[in-house]
Amino acid sequence: MTNALQQLKAHQKKVIRLSEISAILDWDQLTYMPTGAAADRADQQTTIQMLIHDLSVNPEVGHLLDACAAAVSSQQADSDDVALVRVSKRDYDLATKVPSNLIEELVGHSSMAYEVWVQARKQSDFSLFSPVLRKTVELNKRLADCLGYVEHPYDALVNQHEPGMTAAKLRQLFAELRPALVSLVADIGEAPQVNSEFLHGHFPIERQQELTINAVRTLGYDTNRGRQDKTVHPFCTSFSHNDVRITTRYDEQMIGGALYASLHEAGHAMYEQGLPAHLKLTALCRAASSGVHESQSRLWENMVGRGREFCSYFLPTLQHYFPEAFSKVTAEELYRAVNRVEPSLIRVEADEVTYNLHIILRFELEVAMLEGKLDVDDLPDAWDAALHEMLGITPPTDTEGCLQDVHWSSGFGGFPAYTLGNLIAAQLWHTIQRDIPDLSACIATGNCTPLLAWLRDKVHSQGARLDPMDLVEHATGEALNSTYLINYLNGKYRDIYGL
Ligand code: ZN
Repeated sequence: MTNALQQLKAHQKKVIRLSEISAILDWDQLTYMPTGAAADRADQQTTIQMLIHDLSVNPEVGHLLDACAAAVSSQQADSDDVALVRVSKRDYDLATKVPSNLIEELVGHSSMAYEVWVQARKQSDFSLFSPVLRKTVELNKRLADCLGYVEHPYDALVNQHEPGMTAAKLRQLFAELRPALVSLVADIGEAPQVNSEFLHGHFPIERQQELTINAVRTLGYDTNRGRQDKTVHPFCTSFSHNDVRITTRYDEQMIGGALYASLHEAGHAMYEQGLPAHLKLTALCRAASSGVHESQSRLWENMVGRGREFCSYFLPTLQHYFPEAFSKVTAEELYRAVNRVEPSLIRVEADEVTYNLHIILRFELEVAMLEGKLDVDDLPDAWDAALHEMLGITPPTDTEGCLQDVHWSSGFGGFPAYTLGNLIAAQLWHTIQRDIPDLSACIATGNCTPLLAWLRDKVHSQGARLDPMDLVEHATGEALNSTYLINYLNGKYRDIYGL
């Protein structure tokens, strides 16, 4: 290894270790920290973040990257070193292309906008938030100009989360997905609703904790290198290759929320636990993108956890922990109940079918605001009209409409990752079923090992060596398209609803 590459790796190790320490502080704040420590913790985090930022934008890194590029120029294009230099250069460009005064303005705007958003929601008064959102649009346009793009400013914004993704590609994927979902939702609306009453009742939290840890271990989450704790909002965080934690939220009156949130976060965590150990503490030992990360959580949560085989395998466990609620429930009834589809106003409560329409709605509105085709003041009407067209429902207030997400207090371009996650998960799932012919039989006996091994090989162990769209093509043999998600959802839900 050349001297320049050694220096680059030593530099990345320092930055990554600081980020891991920051993640520990963050996890502690959201789990066990006494509230009185909030101001000191904020100061601790700012100190670490400033160290990380200064290291990341140091001009010496730019020179080092030039030296590394020259050093690897004779290596194979698919070697780890070539990928490391390419990914590190992209990180450095992202960190240095935006002038520090714009970063300060964005950070300041985001915390101020958050406070205004809280007030606007409380009073359900969009006019309070409108000037703030106008500023968000302006700042994001300036950010896109700094980051650079060829066709559309949205390309620059979405690239922060999904390297290589463009507005044009998203438009094409969503143009196929949207009508297929709208028609499926409409057909389901005409069919008799499935019964999910038994998922509501009394479920003591301690028993739920035991149940969820049992479930995530079944999937293959390694609790020797992780643990599960309780928080207000579930999340997954990584402190190192050997310490990847998940959290969940429990509701005593309902069992589905904690169970499926746990499967979801375990999907994220197993990705982190399977990242390439030989590349740890480098820019390649991380997820390919937010969308690929989300594909892992959705695959375990929905394709596995909400699948017929897992429901049948897991029902006796549910009956063991909650005999009153589940003793008379059949596996088929459980399967139908956890797959109930119902158009809802709130994105985070949406089911597998309607969820993507919530994302497409936000993507269309973000692009229209960036292009100036939609004036910010007209957002509530545009939101309500699009939601009605897609799901046939209208929010009674803006709090349940365009004010529901915190995201527009800061940046644009983050939402598509959720639907990309579903598209990628469905395409991977199709390939997995072909590659593992006895997959259903395995899951029906609680054996998820072959599935995890496939994901480890094709996705996890790749880290960030490949760009997300290349990773998908590499794993499935074809470019990402919407066919597999459309077929998966139509097949599953037309069967459940007898359509
Ligand atoms: Zn997720």
